[in-house]
Amino acid sequence: MTRSAETGARRAGIKLGIAYFVIAAAWVLLSDRAVEFLAGSAQSLAFLQSFKGVAFVAVMAVLLGGYAARLQRVESARLREQLLASFDPVTRLPNSHSFYEELAEQLRHCEQSGGRCAVMLLDFRDFARINDGFGRAAGDQVLQNVARRLQALPRAPEVIARLEKDKFALIIEDADDADVPAAIAEEIGVAFRREMTVDDNVVLLDYNISYAIYPEDGDSVSALIDAAELTLRAAKRIGANVAERFRPSLLHTRRRHFHIESELRHALNHQGLSLHLQPQFDLASNALIGAEALARWTHADHGPISPGVFIPVAEQTGLIDRISEFVMDRVCQALHEWRGRGLPEITVAVNVAGHQLDDGRLGFFLQKAAEEWNAPLHQLEIEVTESMAMRDPDQAVDVLSRLREMGVSIALDDFGTGYSSLSHLLRLPVNKLKIDRSFITDLPENRQQLGFVRTMVALGDELGVTLLAEGIETDAQRQHLLAIGCRHGQGFLLGRPMEIDAFADLLARSAATTRPEGLLNLLASRHRKTAR
Ligand code: C2E
Ligand code: MG
Ligand code: MG
Repeated sequence: MTRSAETGARRAGIKLGIAYFVIAAAWVLLSDRAVEFLAGSAQSLAFLQSFKGVAFVAVMAVLLGGYAARLQRVESARLREQLLASFDPVTRLPNSHSFYEELAEQLRHCEQSGGRCAVMLLDFRDFARINDGFGRAAGDQVLQNVARRLQALPRAPEVIARLEKDKFALIIEDADDADVPAAIAEEIGVAFRREMTVDDNVVLLDYNISYAIYPEDGDSVSALIDAAELTLRAAKRIGANVAERFRPSLLHTRRRHFHIESELRHALNHQGLSLHLQPQFDLASNALIGAEALARWTHADHGPISPGVFIPVAEQTGLIDRISEFVMDRVCQALHEWRGRGLPEITVAVNVAGHQLDDGRLGFFLQKAAEEWNAPLHQLEIEVTESMAMRDPDQAVDVLSRLREMGVSIALDDFGTGYSSLSHLLRLPVNKLKIDRSFITDLPENRQQLGFVRTMVALGDELGVTLLAEGIETDAQRQHLLAIGCRHGQGFLLGRPMEIDAFADLLARSAATTRPEGLLNLLASRHRKTAR
């Protein structure tokens, strides 16, 4: 019993005692006089005297009965309230409040017995789409179905709770064998591989699972939950239907990310970022046809920091929008200046990251930068990676189509690495496929790579889109690509990413170069110098 319930019970007892005392005392003191007053004769006095005791018992029975009924009503209201405060009304599973209480209890038990237990989190991806698409009532049915499937697991843990929206938590009481949580995660995977039917709609849920084991992954409720939450985010980054156990390196990565984030914020506020352009060529004529814009960050103490390090942090923290804004602004400024100098019109590609495809902000930033510098949108290209576009193909088709309507062209970056289904790929409104560097590295010796690239070129021709090979480092690669029909290329052989001024000079020279081989010789000599 809780302390407040105990105090309530004591108060009720005292009240009842006082009421009993007052009525009994009044009865003892006044009943004889009342009886004498009421009795008209000695016979009725005798009758009333003997009836007095029975009347006392009746009055007390009514008092106690009424009081007990009132207590009963109060108690059921309290129980109902307690139930609502500890259970989720949709799934009837314990809610987060009782989950944390149960977990604290379980950790106390493990501490005393020296045993291990685990917290497991289960989160469904894109659940909002079910609510949006089928309505809230259908969403509730799906959640109830989820609860039933979890309760029906072969090794269903005793505590299964709904923490919030589409996030569930399990307490695995016996995790002495670290394989037990892994086995339960596997069972969950099996349970959700089956579709569910809700209002005649077939729903297949994608999920992520994380777990952390007491005491090694966290020795308190907050440490354990924090470890599981951190791991859940890591699992989500890997992809759908991934289960992960906590690793200490995740904490190091988080600390490092915090550090990078604050330094990157500082760099953005103090013009610490710059832009490089990497040239793209027509492999047959050696004509300079475009450039890819690549963000550069040189840290005052640590020197150059790779985009491979800071772009993922920027994506997670939302700083990516500011980087994109900066890149688009610098690109449009460059296009404006080149036009003023009478340099040839080329296309410049900017990379976009993850969630930037989720809404219309991309188009807004592009339009804003282009208007500010009076730069033509048809000279701009957006590079999206295949995996980025495939996260939500319908949304990607929508956003990319709108960008194309604005005059911007679309390139599919790192093509071939996303294992995308062809039927989805064919729907994307792209102008260009950029064959990923990993398919070029061992050309021409690697027959398998050669086969892949041939297939991609054939696919590009079939779709009527331009093919561009990334990461060309040797002349043999260039010649083979050309021989199998890949017309455009980019790579260290042809030109490294360079500062905007250096690129403008290259563009000016390329315009002046009349002999097709002239430019390549020029670039080859530049490459030899850099290699040395
Ligand atoms: P990406 O879009 O695939 O860019 C090409 C990367 O390949 C660049 O690395 C470039 O320097 C490198 N590269 C080009 N030719 C060669 C070659 O012949 N050999 C080798 N070994 N590498 C070559 P970088 O600049 O380190 O960029 C890495 C990734 O970071 C980019 O991959 C892109 O995904 C991302 N990134 C760079 N700048 C931005 C940006 O402004 N915004 C966003 N969202 N992402 C960016
Ligand atoms: Mg790119
Ligand atoms: Mg690429």
